[in-house]
Amino acid sequence: MDNSTIGKEKDPMGRAISDYFRTGKAAKLRVFSSMFYEDEIPVATLFRGFEDMPLQEQKAVELCRGRVLDVGAGSGCHSVVLKERGHDVVAIDISELSIEVMKERGLDARNVNFFDDTFVEKFDTILMAMNGIGIVGKVERLGDFFRAAKRLLAPGGQVLLDSSDIRYIFMNDDGSMDINLAAGYYGEVDFKMRYKNVTGEPFDWLYIDFETLKMYAEEHGFKCEKCIDGEHYDYLARIVAE
Ligand code: SAH
Repeated sequence: MDNSTIGKEKDPMGRAISDYFRTGKAAKLRVFSSMFYEDEIPVATLFRGFEDMPLQEQKAVELCRGRVLDVGAGSGCHSVVLKERGHDVVAIDISELSIEVMKERGLDARNVNFFDDTFVEKFDTILMAMNGIGIVGKVERLGDFFRAAKRLLAPGGQVLLDSSDIRYIFMNDDGSMDINLAAGYYGEVDFKMRYKNVTGEPFDWLYIDFETLKMYAEEHGFKCEKCIDGEHYDYLARIVAE
């Protein structure tokens, strides 16, 4: 069980979301990893509307039914769209700052960690957008993910998630891969973010290919189907209890 949340002083992304919401602009949200070059998340994209969402997210929004739990909802961009479409939506996020913004946007937003087993409401759809399953961090924690899904899904409920097979990062021109098999699954990444003078704690983030996800889902008593492929090694999956 993990009921931790992120306070305001240690939350670069929450700070960026809050600035953008209040002033219409934000500084650079920088992302560091031991595995990649420094990168940046354009803060405006965290406020994307339906038209600006990648195909797999639009499809996910269309496949939502009933009462929806938006996990790691960030600015609440998907929750806002779903609410407009008449869904009953609860948005959860560990970021206090993001929760403040979502509440001001009129959402039912709760500062709750997905892995907190004292949160026991039932949902027809659990939405994990923008590689939302990343919060699992490591493949070995997928059991915790499926246990949480069992706790939160109403009978007949579904999980919709998009992720990527990041093997292309390690692929040579001849198709061989520079992967150290002893180092664990290749989609396990470490990140750290910085915004203005706020630096967050480092965290683990999982990208998972469809076949591996399906294998673990079946091991935990779920069916897993691919809804669509995205444009770059990414996909949308739908997981339901067997
Ligand atoms: N879904 C949003 C935001 C993605 S960023 C979008 O598509 O734009 C990932 C979000 O997940 C961050 O806001 C982070 O605070 C939140 N998060 C990380 N771990 C979490 C956890 N265990 N439970 C709930 N939210 C979490």
